[in-house]
Amino acid sequence: MSSLIEVKNVSKYYRMGEEKIVALENISLTMEKGKFYCLLGTSGSGKSTLLNLLAGLEKPSRGQIIIKNTQIGKMSESKLAKFRQNNIGFVFQSYNLMPMLTALENVSIPLTFKGVRRKVRDQRASNLLKAVGLEGRLNHRPNQMSGGQQQRVSIARAFIASPEIVFADEPTGNLDTKTTQEVMDLITFMARKNNQTLVIVTHDIEIAHYADQIIYIRDGNIEKIEDTTENKEAL
Ligand code: ADP
Ligand code: MG
Repeated sequence: MSSLIEVKNVSKYYRMGEEKIVALENISLTMEKGKFYCLLGTSGSGKSTLLNLLAGLEKPSRGQIIIKNTQIGKMSESKLAKFRQNNIGFVFQSYNLMPMLTALENVSIPLTFKGVRRKVRDQRASNLLKAVGLEGRLNHRPNQMSGGQQQRVSIARAFIASPEIVFADEPTGNLDTKTTQEVMDLITFMARKNNQTLVIVTHDIEIAHYADQIIYIRDGNIEKIEDTTENKEAL
């Protein structure tokens, strides 16, 4: 059986005037359904570039990214947008909530795109906001909430359409230690409960240890891949 995500010989180059910047060089890996992966590396190593390629936000310069047996780099923009709506949730470091919308409205956005009717959307969004501990904040706008609360709203938004895959780029990068732990517990709980695949980017080894597999990224290459599940079972 083929893997949920297959990355085959992927490179990503950027051109800055005369200079060619190598963000990723010949990356290959596979990811399985229901597992939790971490892309770990220092700043500038290529983690966000790889995550953006996996999520279809950017296209590789070379190589293939295959998700659910479909090469996403080959899709038209409209097909890719549909594919993303149906299969992918994304959590950003800076939350990326719509400032004019309430928590409830922000969480509902993916369902709006899918044509779910208002009453059902509101019901599901409010249930999910309850599940992330924000039942008292449904009508708050982003600037009326703390960073941790905003990130919980953005997590609820990433999960609301039940995507098979959730990507998160340094989701706790702007949070304090205690809130980081709460947010990581929340993301992992939600993904495990629904057997979703989770891919998190971080530079923090502590966060990486929540994952089943740590993929070490260095200078645009995979340095090593470490399975953490065996150690966990031994505990
Ligand atoms: P990380 O997320 O690990 O900090 P990135 O994937 O953001 O690293 O960046 C990897 C490398 O690619 C860096 O050297 C960065 O400067 C470069 N890079 C990323 N995005 C662009 C871009 N849009 N244009 C030019 N260079 C970029
Ligand atoms: Mg980054």
